Amino acid sequence: MPEAILTLNAGSSSIKFALYECPAGARRLVSRGAIEGIGAAPTFTALATDGTVLEDKHWATGTHLDHEDLLEPLLTWVTSHLGEENLVAVGHRIVHGGSDFHSPTRIDDTVLAALEKLVPLAPLHQPHNIAAVKAIGSLRPGLPQVACFDTAFHHDMPAVATRLALPRIYAEEGVRRYGFHGLSYEYLIARLRELSPGLADGRVIAAHLGNGASLCAMRNGRSIDTTMGFSTLDGLVMGTRCGSIDPGALLYLQQADGLRAADVERVLYHESGLLGVSGISHDMRILQASEDPHAREAIELFVYRLVKHVGALASVLGGLDALIFSAGIGEHSAGVRAAVCERLAWLGIECDTAANTRHDSLISTSRSPVRVFVMATDEEAMIAEHTARAMSTLSS
Ligand code: AMP
Repeated sequence: MPEAILTLNAGSSSIKFALYECPAGARRLVSRGAIEGIGAAPTFTALATDGTVLEDKHWATGTHLDHEDLLEPLLTWVTSHLGEENLVAVGHRIVHGGSDFHSPTRIDDTVLAALEKLVPLAPLHQPHNIAAVKAIGSLRPGLPQVACFDTAFHHDMPAVATRLALPRIYAEEGVRRYGFHGLSYEYLIARLRELSPGLADGRVIAAHLGNGASLCAMRNGRSIDTTMGFSTLDGLVMGTRCGSIDPGALLYLQQADGLRAADVERVLYHESGLLGVSGISHDMRILQASEDPHAREAIELFVYRLVKHVGALASVLGGLDALIFSAGIGEHSAGVRAAVCERLAWLGIECDTAANTRHDSLISTSRSPVRVFVMATDEEAMIAEHTARAMSTLSS
């Protein structure tokens, strides 16, 4: 019977999924989709690879369904859609693997308990990842599940890149830099290797610029440093997250403004970034279409911080051979890419304006010593690949 793998990326308000057929070791995407509006008005949509709607289910506003309630119809749909095929495993995106998990891991009770211990390190993401694991475990008890970690790609960063300059005792309890978006960076460097193996072994910076945004500096295809650190707050300005911030400002908010820890968390994760600075939206498209000077200021700050961090990582790498733009803003905003490339001209970057406007995959000129790429990322494909490999390792 042909085999299939389901990937899940579970957050607080949505669960993204992808379904792959795996005939004879190959892998073919058959459907992508999402359960959205969890806690408000849930919807379940599944699309074929050509965009045809395969399933579109809506629940009434105010319907409170948990992960298990919502994954049940997804599993039922998967089973009916697969027909003769056999769902052999579910691969999960797990945001935090801590210091111990640095490769895809088959989930059992011991692993699940260890993942739960990491919740304090990623309180806004890890509980939802775990809820999906538990829901699948309860709905299909025998179905193998594999954890694929966002932190794993950065596990071998040089020790100096993992340190925070705090008293050592805090590092011992896990307060160190981990890095995130690892599944995306792993995918992007693999695509660069297909295009140009030599470049993939060189000095590369990838920019994952979505609602969450970070940079990763790579050498020989491995992470050397990255802008997100202990949490997903560090580094670049994001949709609603602040990026790098003077810790003194947080002390001020608590001491002078009387904000409690939960208030500070809300401000830093949900009310800052493009949304906080513009006062209009977290969405780059809306800001780019706006005449409001605060929208322009927010975009300017986004680009400024991006350029500043690329400069810092280029120093860490000792130069730059390739820059990759990816995720929503990186793939689609020619304006942001042009502004970033223009300010990085000192690094040797020369952007081909026509290629950039067309969103070509290569947007640097033939004279540019730094090659600049635009790539779609695919974290689901990476999860499916890891899950298939973890299953075959276990069965061999
Ligand atoms: P992601 O998290 O990867 O889905 O990326 C979301 C971000 O990408 C949002 O800020 C969107 O506004 C931005 N984005 C998507 N499409 C475009 C576009 N055509 N131009 C500018 N930004 C875009």
